[in-house]
Amino acid sequence: MDDEIRKSIRGIALLNASEHDGKTRNDAVISKVMGSKPELREKIKEIIPIISEIVNEVNTITLLMQKSELETKFPELLTVKPKQDRVGLPLLDDAEQGKVVTRFPPEPNGYPHIGHAKAAIIDEEYARMYGGKLIFRFDDTNPEKERLEYYAAIKVGLDWLGVKYDHIKNTSDDMELIYRKAEEFIQSGYAYVCTCNKETISKNRREMLSCKCSFGDLTQNTKRWKDMLEKYKPGEAIVRFRGNMHSENTVMRDPTLLRIIDESHPIHKNKYRVWPNYDFAVSIEDSVDGVTHAFRTKEYELRNELYYAILDKLQMRKPRVLEFSRLEFDGMPVSKRILKPLVQEGKVSGYDDPRLPTLEAMRRRGIVPEAIRKFVLSLSFTKSDTLAPFETLESFNRKIIDPTSMRLFIATDPVKLIVKNNNLTEVEISNHPQKDMGKRKIRIDGSFYISGNDAKSLKVGDEVRLLEIYNIKITKIVPNIEADITDNNFKPEIPKIQWVPSQDAVKIEVLIPKILFVNEQFNENSLEIKQALTEPYYLELNVGAEIQFVRYGYCRKDSANQVIYTHK
Ligand code: ATP
Ligand code: MG
Repeated sequence: MDDEIRKSIRGIALLNASEHDGKTRNDAVISKVMGSKPELREKIKEIIPIISEIVNEVNTITLLMQKSELETKFPELLTVKPKQDRVGLPLLDDAEQGKVVTRFPPEPNGYPHIGHAKAAIIDEEYARMYGGKLIFRFDDTNPEKERLEYYAAIKVGLDWLGVKYDHIKNTSDDMELIYRKAEEFIQSGYAYVCTCNKETISKNRREMLSCKCSFGDLTQNTKRWKDMLEKYKPGEAIVRFRGNMHSENTVMRDPTLLRIIDESHPIHKNKYRVWPNYDFAVSIEDSVDGVTHAFRTKEYELRNELYYAILDKLQMRKPRVLEFSRLEFDGMPVSKRILKPLVQEGKVSGYDDPRLPTLEAMRRRGIVPEAIRKFVLSLSFTKSDTLAPFETLESFNRKIIDPTSMRLFIATDPVKLIVKNNNLTEVEISNHPQKDMGKRKIRIDGSFYISGNDAKSLKVGDEVRLLEIYNIKITKIVPNIEADITDNNFKPEIPKIQWVPSQDAVKIEVLIPKILFVNEQFNENSLEIKQALTEPYYLELNVGAEIQFVRYGYCRKDSANQVIYTHK
């Protein structure tokens, strides 16, 4: 074992000992060594005795000696990493340990996607980082768009991601409070009821003209508010914030605070007909929920002025609002405006179609929650939009699933191969090259399937190895490929190909998700379906199992006869 490795093990052991009153332990050092040098995992058998030898040595010297050796030989191990490095997020201003409250406020108007994952994970990580709380709040104040199905889907998505919240609630449960605040607003003259039509309202906004309704007195506004609750029709009246029609920030030009929506609400049915819009609901809710740090995507940045102005007028506590960038994958938009038509027109099979960026689709495809978290935290915390390549997520995923994915053989676009002088009836193969994941037995009789791609490159006279069994020489290509066994020696120079026994081959389809949009156009070839044969052991795996098909890629078993290609 080379000196470099010994040296780094010694450093790790010394550091661990110095942090534990001068005594270190084998298991602690082993896990730290494997964590910091994953490449050594393969050599674990050789390394364990070395670790235990070094641990013994370190335990015989005093704590003082351990510390001085660390200082002289391993100064780099002693530089204390700042707290934010634990997950890579910058520290928050005005954040007190134990007092930070964040919230994740999705609107139940669609299926959760990778962008929601980013928001929820950041909200959760900050709450944890400061020993605070995360509130999961459905912002459900637009009954036109919201459905119970979406509340459920978002909750399922969050649970799948492993995001743990301390409290769950619905904004709509606070409607009485929101009405009281609306009345307070109107009473104090900070808001008025406007009965102009849409066109007039937007024209005035554009031209920076005050609305005639804004001159109405309290009696008029109180009467109109009552009428809004009882008899105006949708669109006939809205409550507007008395902002500034000359503001550079168009958001501040007397924005809407509440409007009439006569649709039945998924939870409250027809109990309410006047609903707060986003700004009014979110600022009040964040304030009463005790939120200290409210994160949202940066397209809301212009709305910050309104958020604070609302709370100012209501003399309510102000959380700090912070922005981060929207996350989206290249060629995989998250917007409902784009995804909904794809589902409705049947261009994708549903919200769990593996081509989509929804969490349900990620799960089906074989992306694990831990990979999503690592990926999200690896993105720098900036406001510039992140158009991340999907491959970055894939590489986090690969590292996580590799140690637990069983290896199987697959033949895509299969072609038959007959080995004339086969003399075996069964082979036993390990399910994983490094990990002990058991073995499987495969019956063989000399008739195999190999991948169309491998078959294409074979010529009479070629020698190849059928993985795990024997080397063969090709004797015939048409009509069937035929071969003879040559020997069983290890020959680095010959190609090694996988095979499937014909007698027990299992027919499956491989769904291969490709990029969904190319140059903003739906990619008609975004889903490739490949016919394939695999080993009978496939039938014994549970749906959801992740498989690494040797020389092909990682796939997740989606049903008895279908797998979804996860990634290379
Ligand atoms: P959509 O355009 O899909 O409706 P939204 O912002 O309206 O997106 P919400 O359900 O209201 O979606 O969002 C809940 C939270 O998730 C908000 O804090 C929002 O800022 C955040 N969020 C939504 N989409 C993304 C995204 N693509 N990247 C990062 N965060 C996002
Ligand atoms: Mg929304």
